[in-house]
Amino acid sequence: MEPIASKVNVNHRRYVLIVDDEEINRQMLGFIVGSEYDVMYAENGRQALEILRANSYRISLVLLDILMPEMDGRELLDILRSDSELHRIPVIVLTAEKDAEIESLRLGAVDFIPKPYDMPDVIMARVRRSIKLAEDNSLLSATEQDSMTGLYNKGFLYVYADMHGRLNPDMDMDAVAIDINRLHIVNDLYGRAYGDQVIRRLAGRIKRYADEHGGYAGRSDGEFYLYIPHTDDCDALLEELGKDLRLNDDDIQITLRMGIYQNADRSTGMEACFDRAENACKTVRNTYASSYSFYDSKMHEKELYDEQLLGEVDTALAEGQFKVYFQPKYNIRGGRPVLSSAEALVRWIHPALGFISPGAFIPLFEKNGLILKLDKYVWKKSAEQMRIWKEKYGVVIPVSVNISRMDIYEPGLEDEIRSIAAAEGIANDAFLLEITESAYTDNSDHIISVVNSLRSSGFRIEMDDFGSGYSSLSMLASLPVDVLKIDMAFVRNITTSEKDYRMIRLMIEVAGFMGMTTVAEGVETKEQLDLLKQAGCDVIQGYYFSKPVPPDEFEQFIEKEMEESKNADS
Ligand code: C2E
Ligand code: CA
Ligand code: CA
Repeated sequence: MEPIASKVNVNHRRYVLIVDDEEINRQMLGFIVGSEYDVMYAENGRQALEILRANSYRISLVLLDILMPEMDGRELLDILRSDSELHRIPVIVLTAEKDAEIESLRLGAVDFIPKPYDMPDVIMARVRRSIKLAEDNSLLSATEQDSMTGLYNKGFLYVYADMHGRLNPDMDMDAVAIDINRLHIVNDLYGRAYGDQVIRRLAGRIKRYADEHGGYAGRSDGEFYLYIPHTDDCDALLEELGKDLRLNDDDIQITLRMGIYQNADRSTGMEACFDRAENACKTVRNTYASSYSFYDSKMHEKELYDEQLLGEVDTALAEGQFKVYFQPKYNIRGGRPVLSSAEALVRWIHPALGFISPGAFIPLFEKNGLILKLDKYVWKKSAEQMRIWKEKYGVVIPVSVNISRMDIYEPGLEDEIRSIAAAEGIANDAFLLEITESAYTDNSDHIISVVNSLRSSGFRIEMDDFGSGYSSLSMLASLPVDVLKIDMAFVRNITTSEKDYRMIRLMIEVAGFMGMTTVAEGVETKEQLDLLKQAGCDVIQGYYFSKPVPPDEFEQFIEKEMEESKNADS
């Protein structure tokens, strides 16, 4: 980004360019304005343009006559407005014609000064005000811009959209969110610089569309936004923005996904409008073709449902509506599968809505900062259960609990888990902490230091969903992890896809080399189990053995295991 000081003349005198074909007018204006500003002169539009091009960063304001030989004021305004560099310089039009005033404002002048110049104070006031407004604006945009594309960031886009709404209360507007499909693949294939160029190319299209249609364009956190007068032709919009974004003809196609909240209801605020566009965008599959989706009544119902859930969390915790279920994990290294541990998985048994699966509320709680509260509850219940089983059966069943990516940012996390284990008299190494693979890519330095510290307290760390994100096998070498949990998607395909099977073999081999144990989850058939065993996998979790069950049902697995191990011993 340009340093602000080079864009705005903050520390030196400002220049005003006076453009008029009549000597007497130039002199009069120069006399008035010269008391406060340095002055440059031009006799026509052509001369003015030359001076502007050579001094674009020095000139703070142009005073422009309309009727001139060679190049008149209208023509110059037109050129300035479409010039990427010069359009920021404010122009005040000098005119005696009423019609010209309006026309020049339409062409982009910020103000006008009527001839004759008989009120120097009024002229000075207008000059000062126009300069100040333009400077404030460029100061703002220098800090409120997305650094890569120069588009407004979201916050600033909201300000503009709000202002637009106040000025045009009856105009129907659409909020649009736009994303590039599989951008990480483009970056991987051709390098980040290439990806950046694609982003800028798209930004230019979005900006042009906004300018041509009287809308606003923005970009925040990698996502693009448009706020535009309502259009029914979304195909044309998508086509215009997404047409050939790649840099060379032989490169892979680059496609877009777009979410549109049509005729946005502004009464809930701009943030909500763009959230809706974004949610619609998320429903579009990240595929090989460009496509779009609308915010609709179904999504609105989901919003209301989510709000209801969020509003009831505290009651639900207090009333014990959350239940912790346990799914057994079996070690398959020996002759017969041996119960080795369990994973704690939460369920919400809602008095009115019935059984709610964690997929419906965990991501919601993560987004709204409630997940830690729920996770602490689950950890506590899990530790309690381990103590109860220890008392009842004389053995400790190790339990894995899920640690949300958001929990990692909690400063007191480690103390919290330690005191929960201590309160129930459970050794730390009986607690396994499952952290999803993608959390490691969010902020790897931070998570590595948290995980190192947890491990030095004796907790064991499982990397959950391995293979679902973008981390590589080579990355494993640098991560402090005890157990590798292979993502279900691989397991699902091993019986049909030779490639997935080879992939799993490789994961298991690398994990073993790093001294990690491997767990495969989502195992549903004997066939899958046999292949995994053949590949050297240590532990299996899945419907093949059992779905997650309430603690009292889980006891049958403990009892069966005790029975079988007794028989094996005798
Ligand atoms: P996860 O940690 O990957 O958990 C495994 C999910 O796979 C569970 O879904 C489990 O019921 C399911 N599953 C187990 N075996 C099979 C199988 O053979 N076939 C199939 N198709 N599925 C199987 P669930 O219980 O619906 O949980 C979904 C996700 O919600 C979990 O994925 C985890 O990310 C999250 N979650 C669940 N409980 C908690 C919790 O207490 N705290 C946090 N932070 N997240 C949780
Ligand atoms: Ca898990
Ligand atoms: Ca998992």
